[in-house]
Amino acid sequence: MGMKRFRAILAGAAAAAALCGLLLSMTIDSAARTRATVAQVLTALALAGFVATAVTRPAPGHAEAAGATRGAVPEDVRGRCNFSKVAANEQALASLRELRDYLREPEKYVRYGARIPRGVLLYGPPGTGKTLLARALAGEAGVPFFALSGSDFVEKFVGVGASRVRELFRKARKAGKCVVFIDEIDAMGKRRDDSVSDERDQTLNALLSEMSGFYTGDGVIVIAATNRMEALDPALLRPGRFDRQIEVGLPGRAERLSILKLHSAGKPLDAEVSLDELAAQTVSFSGASLENLLNEAALLAALRGTPTIGKSEVQTAFYRAVAGSDRPATASPEELWSIAVHEAGHALVSYLLAPESRILRVSILPAGGGAAGYNLCVPRERVMPDKRQMESQICVLLAGRAAEQAVLGEEALTAGASGDLSRAAELAMAMVMELGMAGEPAVSLKALQRGCGGAGGQEASRALLNRLYDSTLSLIDRYNRALNALAEALMRSESLTGEEAVKILEDNLSDERPESA
Ligand code: ADP
Ligand code: ZN
Ligand code: MG
Repeated sequence: MGMKRFRAILAGAAAAAALCGLLLSMTIDSAARTRATVAQVLTALALAGFVATAVTRPAPGHAEAAGATRGAVPEDVRGRCNFSKVAANEQALASLRELRDYLREPEKYVRYGARIPRGVLLYGPPGTGKTLLARALAGEAGVPFFALSGSDFVEKFVGVGASRVRELFRKARKAGKCVVFIDEIDAMGKRRDDSVSDERDQTLNALLSEMSGFYTGDGVIVIAATNRMEALDPALLRPGRFDRQIEVGLPGRAERLSILKLHSAGKPLDAEVSLDELAAQTVSFSGASLENLLNEAALLAALRGTPTIGKSEVQTAFYRAVAGSDRPATASPEELWSIAVHEAGHALVSYLLAPESRILRVSILPAGGGAAGYNLCVPRERVMPDKRQMESQICVLLAGRAAEQAVLGEEALTAGASGDLSRAAELAMAMVMELGMAGEPAVSLKALQRGCGGAGGQEASRALLNRLYDSTLSLIDRYNRALNALAEALMRSESLTGEEAVKILEDNLSDERPESA
């Protein structure tokens, strides 16, 4: 668990540093996205990306789910889906291969007295291929696939959900060997605390008793998926229920490459497009976002009528995926100047303090999520962030505001820095409360305070933020010339590639580099 929490905090940190936008309107989903990221950091489950790119396609299985009132309709996925459609996810695949063998030849397992897991729980962030894996299992084994979503079982009327569960299992058993897939199981299997409704309780009980009820020789395999493992009722995880739990995590760089290869098959990619390079850029993309990126590039190429899908289409699709589409600037020249100063601040401090994360693009064009401009970096993928790296990331986040203060003056501070400030505060809180990185290295305030309530740690977090802000400000003062040059270049061309931005910074920096923040 410890390791996971660290990784999640790193991902949160990476997310924070990756896309420091100046938000003009703080109401839109950027704020919501930020909050989602915090939740993910806290649950130590899902890893956030540049921005948590929500996959908004309708949940697969919804067509079937629509018929849920009358009972699940099995889907024949034979010949349409199999393990060759899944890249990466080796650990999950290994587990599912066993289940496939079992589904093909249950007698063999029964003869040895082996207990096959009745339920397999796939957990991990959205878009990582959980539904795909379940479907592929059914396809490989050549058995029907029943797909339902946990939310289909949650009904206003007590007892309806429970009877649906029984109905589902009756049909499944009648089908003989099959795969039953319950997506979003957290909707029905939430931890039973005082807030829980009677209805959901009954539904969950029905599921538990159905699962303990059937004989393993039946050949019914239940696969459930969730991206909120921590919200599940522990009863679901006991032996004889979902006793095998497989994490389906975000792909690493090599895995991203294999997913990109798989989905670019059949697409006329130009030879100049390097999938390797794209895999390096797409830190914390899920399989679904990668698939989506390639599809966007293909759509763009079709629209432009180019003979192949070129580098330009792929880059544009990438920027859209992480920052939303560019929109023409509608801000006044004065506003544009403050946006340019703000973004140049992020870029400068990122260049100075976090040279390991590569700047991809700096822009003062309005983008998705209410961002007035942005500064896009590829954070270095690390298993564990260290204190220096986390402090640098806070400084990068604070640099937009620091640039406003240093260049525009106290009276001209913009409302757009709110997202940056709250992400910096979250990081600082994590450092103070959980990581022992501010003051006493051996003390987890959070663990100490568990159960005592109390808002301790705020003072220490404030002190940390103020200290880092001061050092960011002095960096910006010291390299004021580079900052101004970059902001002026942004005014001229609205958006710069990472190389262009770095060139301008380098040309205008004095030789010395700061030792540390
Ligand atoms: P989840 O159920 O975890 O939210 P899905 O299985 O619905 O994710 O994934 C959506 C789509 O993303 C898949 O249909 C597939 O096109 C693509 N995808 C996700 N993960 C992978 C992967 N590991 N290999 C290949 N494609 C993937
Ligand atoms: Zn910013
Ligand atoms: Mg799914």
